[in-house]
Amino acid sequence: MTTCKRCGAALALTVNACPYCGLTTPLGEVAHHRAEFDARGRAHSERVAASQAEEAARVRVAKLASQALLWSAAGTALCCLPLGLVGAAQAAQTRSLARSQNVALPARVAVAFWLGIASCMLSTAVATWAFVDSRHERHRVAARTAQLEREIGAGASAPTLARAVACALAEQRALKVGYDGEPGERLDDFTCVGRFAAGTDSASLEDFSFRYSSTTFNVSTCFKRGAIWYVSDMRTGACPTGVPVAGPAASAGALPGGPASAAGKQPN
Ligand SMILES: [Zn+2]
Repeated sequence: MTTCKRCGAALALTVNACPYCGLTTPLGEVAHHRAEFDARGRAHSERVAASQAEEAARVRVAKLASQALLWSAAGTALCCLPLGLVGAAQAAQTRSLARSQNVALPARVAVAFWLGIASCMLSTAVATWAFVDSRHERHRVAARTAQLEREIGAGASAPTLARAVACALAEQRALKVGYDGEPGERLDDFTCVGRFAAGTDSASLEDFSFRYSSTTFNVSTCFKRGAIWYVSDMRTGACPTGVPVAGPAASAGALPGGPASAAGKQPN
């Protein structure tokens, strides 16, 4: 037992304050100081934890921002749709994360977002252009092939191959088959002014030229006669021997109806 210093009441040793006058006992002083100390310690721990969490969020946002920028830049450089989309999506994600964590947003997030969007639009435009262009090229080639078909007409079954028919056959072959690995629909600017020689069963056309992009091809076209005249080869060197030098008959395009030519004509 002890007594209260203010009112003299008898107090148990375990009380923190006098129940009569409210004076804090020495035990109460100690308990009060301990409680204050504990509260300060808790507040400090909470401040440290909050600061650590904020730093972690800041690091995470910074990392996401860099990744988003990387995706968007790669998408732009490679002109590849999914990469730009990933960049823009990740930038949006980073922005909402920064907002929820109350972290300052790095400037590169906006760059990543708009770069990603621009990359998507660019690749969509390129893909559309490529699609339209290839369709246009296919139509152009189809129309030209049909026109050549009309120009060739009966000339392919004439006993003697006419120069104009040979030119048309050569162009048709290049458009259909292509040349040197280049697709036929990409070949253009056909020029047919080279030396032409025709015999009864074979013919050759030199310096037949055409263009692919900036490359100009200059080839010899070799013809053979089966059921009709056809292109047997397109090559850089001369055609195989056996083709006579162009004579007066070579340019005669008219269809003779005499017995001699009827004998030489193949059944269709
Ligand atoms: Zn008291």
